[in-house]
Amino acid sequence: MNETNRHLDNSVNSANAVSSANSVLLTRAEILRWLRESDEKKLAELWQQADATRQQRVGDAVHLRALVEISNHCIRKCSYCGLHVDHQNLTRYRMNTDEILACAHEAVEFGYGTIVMQSGEDYGLTKTFISDVVRRIKSETPLAITLSLGERMNNELIEWRKAGADRYLLRFETSNPQLYEAIHPSLPNRQSDRFAILRFLQQLGYETGSGIMVGIPGQRFDTLADDIVAFGELDLDMIGIGPYISHPDTPLAKKNDIYTSLDSQEQVPNSELMTYKAVALTRLVCPHANIPSTTALATINRETGRELGLARGANVVMLNLTPVHYRQLYEIYPAKTCITESAEVYRQQLLKSVEAMGRHFGVGPGGTKR
Ligand code: SAH
Repeated sequence: MNETNRHLDNSVNSANAVSSANSVLLTRAEILRWLRESDEKKLAELWQQADATRQQRVGDAVHLRALVEISNHCIRKCSYCGLHVDHQNLTRYRMNTDEILACAHEAVEFGYGTIVMQSGEDYGLTKTFISDVVRRIKSETPLAITLSLGERMNNELIEWRKAGADRYLLRFETSNPQLYEAIHPSLPNRQSDRFAILRFLQQLGYETGSGIMVGIPGQRFDTLADDIVAFGELDLDMIGIGPYISHPDTPLAKKNDIYTSLDSQEQVPNSELMTYKAVALTRLVCPHANIPSTTALATINRETGRELGLARGANVVMLNLTPVHYRQLYEIYPAKTCITESAEVYRQQLLKSVEAMGRHFGVGPGGTKR
């Protein structure tokens, strides 16, 4: 048996041996080997294994989420993100309750089971405002509600859960503490600890999601392997993985210091291929998780990125229902796909390719089944 077959085989054996929700099916060394693998034939086995695991563990349904970007205000200085507070020539917006409710009703009309409300870290979206919006969506629609509003206070997270929010997304971005602090500075009097927040969200009973960017300047291969191991240890319900895309109006795009000058052997490329590897390995490590084929992936390969993500481990797609005049202002990175297209047109195109893969759209909220 050659090397590749052996570690695929190990993963199959462990998958059979450990059928509980949280299990690390590959060792860190095996993950690292796959991340450095360049032989297309061997990689084809990884794709196949990820796809088979996806099919066995979460089935053929592709769950759609309606993404509504409710505000682009942000108090943070994340050096990778176009919404960072010092980006001054960006028009800021915050949707009101009626605008958000209209999106929720549209989501129901088009058959979505979940609404994802995402924003910059915007304290203008107050605890009460979000609670009221969550209650109204819950009373007027059957939608599951996912929040992705940044590092909010414990009392806010508690309140929103009580109001009926089902899920929360907060990517840890990278598990390397030095790289994290370099790209995501803490607020002056509050240390940023996304791992602590993720544990708190789990205690509150949220289905909890996290994720990373692939190819952040300064991200080493072994750090990416650690990120994937961390996904398994955290026992996450949802895991979003997209390539880092440079935004010219961000400090990270302009900066050229220690964090941006790794040896090319060590620096993880922000490529499509590396993103597929991370998605496929994550499916093997977290077989039960809901894993989106992300917008960032679809941005770097508009023709087939979404489909290839779905064929290599992913089972979720988030479609943008933000009103078009706001959508273009939610520019976390440039040339984001689906800036002007109608979500409905995109959904119908996606349906064709999903059906061509022998799969179908999921019905209902599409939460994690354990
Ligand atoms: N304020 C929220 C939502 C941020 S946007 C939060 O911080 O959680 C959602 C995700 O987009 C981020 O978590 C990050 O992983 C991703 N993102 C931001 N800038 C990006 C970039 N330049 N390239 C690729 N992904 C990016």
